[in-house]
Amino acid sequence: MRLLLVEDDIALRNGLQQALSVQGFAVNAVGTAQQALSVIRAADCDTVILDLGLPDMDGLVLLKQLRQKWPRLPVLILTARDGVDERIKGLDHGADDYLVKPFAAPELFARLRVIERRLGTASSHLIRCGEVELDSTAMLVTAAKLAVPLSRREYVLLKELMESAGRIKTRDQLESALYSWGEEVASNALEVHISNLRKKLPADFIRTVRGVGYTVAKA
Ligand code: CA
Repeated sequence: MRLLLVEDDIALRNGLQQALSVQGFAVNAVGTAQQALSVIRAADCDTVILDLGLPDMDGLVLLKQLRQKWPRLPVLILTARDGVDERIKGLDHGADDYLVKPFAAPELFARLRVIERRLGTASSHLIRCGEVELDSTAMLVTAAKLAVPLSRREYVLLKELMESAGRIKTRDQLESALYSWGEEVASNALEVHISNLRKKLPADFIRTVRGVGYTVAKA
């Protein structure tokens, strides 16, 4: 699941992006409502984590715009506004969930997993393709019941592929999952990670679709 984190507090934004990445989410992080809109217009996210106090627009106004144009895009409000009235307002404006700062990071991760399950991108914690299983709660991958140790990036790539099993993931889609780590990515990074993944997984598990991208077979 690709997340868009909209938060103008730089320290919190960077810290959260890092923590969410470690949890295996692909995260785009921006500091203004305008930047958020351009990411969403590019259809580059599955769920929005929204701070309400933004420099260029009140988060509730942005939420209203999102609801009009993208009624199904899940939005989780993350804010210091903790009054009951504020929470009701947020939910009535169409937020799917509301978490008050300060919050415990594991609670945010758990709530995101609920949204993920509802979206059906991961109908359970467990995705199974042939003898390979990926447990997104434990961030554990096994092949024929044996643990497969993966780097964080390998895990993110494999999760992207397995969530779309039976369909092709384009190079762009997979690279954007890598780019969302907020780091420079070498032009051959994708090939390197895929090649490393292949060494750890059953032969032919990841198939190359020449000139397009990669795919894994469904179940
Ligand atoms: Ca803020």
